[in-house]
Amino acid sequence: MDGIVLENINKQFGSVIAVADVDLELSDGRFVCFLGPSGCGKTTLLRLIAGLEAPTRGRILLAGEDITRTPAHRRNFGMVFQSLALFPHLTVGENVSYSLKVRKIDRDTRRRRTESLLELVQLSGLVDRHISQLSGGQKQRVAIARALAIEPRLFLLDEPLSALDAKLREDMQLELRMLQQRLGITTILVTHDQREAMTMADLVVVMGPGNRIHQVGSPLEIYRHPANTFVADFIGTSNLLEGTCDKSGEIRVDRVHLEVAELPAEILPDSAVTVSVRPEDIRVLPGIESGNNRLPGKVSFIRDLGSSVEVYLDCAGIQIISHSTPKGRPEIKPGDDATAVLPPAACVALKS
Ligand code: ATP
Repeated sequence: MDGIVLENINKQFGSVIAVADVDLELSDGRFVCFLGPSGCGKTTLLRLIAGLEAPTRGRILLAGEDITRTPAHRRNFGMVFQSLALFPHLTVGENVSYSLKVRKIDRDTRRRRTESLLELVQLSGLVDRHISQLSGGQKQRVAIARALAIEPRLFLLDEPLSALDAKLREDMQLELRMLQQRLGITTILVTHDQREAMTMADLVVVMGPGNRIHQVGSPLEIYRHPANTFVADFIGTSNLLEGTCDKSGEIRVDRVHLEVAELPAEILPDSAVTVSVRPEDIRVLPGIESGNNRLPGKVSFIRDLGSSVEVYLDCAGIQIISHSTPKGRPEIKPGDDATAVLPPAACVALKS
């Protein structure tokens, strides 16, 4: 394996389990996001890879070599933290070239590399500026250039964009993604923002309850085929319908028979099941219709967002959200009878 491999990684701080049973293989050149809610172990896992923490158990391999005990400064990884940790008393150029100076790289090479890095992050001309004279986005770029100065083997980013306002954040996401593609450097970004992960990553590692990995896959795989109810709920919006699977494998939600895309082997006959359906896959028809994959109810609320329309239905106590385009807007208003149609291909059956 050419990239980085984590084998049975566990990290405990006293009695707190920060990371549990992580097995992960990341091949070279990919943009990977560690995604999950606060406290699920994303930062700890990144710090273990960086060498800033040592695992309680397990091994870390880089291109087949065991680096579990290699100190951080000998791993040659570039890191950007949420706090950025720039040197406030140094100029932009001095910040970027700092690690080259520590490595005793000669002055000319330092100058050339600093110039090309500042060009790369679109800060040419600001080499003599002081950090205090920069905007938030410019500071971000300095931190990225500084981390890239050592030509790192891995580029590790811990929520570096979370302090930026929404617009700048989106611009920086795009910039960072394009930069990574240009350099082809393996990058791992920690984020709790699922939109950020979905727009930037080749591969998303979803962490969650139990401080373990719940799913690894491309953004689309994770969205379309969530591995469990936690992932279905955490990534995007999902209707999670509680139902039952009977002896013959038929799924029912509130007495309505639901045909699903497939029935995973882990769902046993005579057990509880959760069916996940994305709002954009649900069609709402005016009036009451019965039949398989049809949940009759009443319109409780309609939200018109301009580019999309959200319809909220109350189907005998089950809340359903449907999203449609303005063109596909059903002819209904709050209080009307309506039926939610759930296409079998969009119904993902999950163990409850
Ligand atoms: P956030 O998004 O809030 O930063 P996270 O997913 O990155 O969260 P971690 O910071 O990795 O989560 O923390 C995982 C767990 O380990 C948490 O319960 C945290 O309190 C605990 N933890 C992390 N670092 C330490 C430490 N140095 N000492 C004790 N407990 C720690």
